[in-house]
Amino acid sequence: MTSLLMSRYLTWADVYENAACKETPRGFFFPTNEEPWKAQVAFCRQCPVRLRCLKMAIDDGLNYGIFGGLNARQRRDKSRVRREYLQDVS
Ligand code: SF4
Repeated sequence: MTSLLMSRYLTWADVYENAACKETPRGFFFPTNEEPWKAQVAFCRQCPVRLRCLKMAIDDGLNYGIFGGLNARQRRDKSRVRREYLQDVS
């Protein structure tokens, strides 16, 4: 498990292998702007691979849907903070 977390070659198939949403229609994670997405966030919170999913979504720059319990704006914010941190320490 640890080696999988550290792998540079983590794939979405690796993430979904143990995902809580393995049997859930993907449409559930793509609510319209008018819909609240609290149900999706709560669903992701109990997922054993939430952080891997979040990392993949940020790394892949996905600008839509709920991944890892965060919406696209929240993922962009996390990505920006990570970039700024890396620039600051380099
Ligand atoms: S964090 Fe959410 S979207 Fe990601 S794999 Fe888990 S349940 Fe699915």
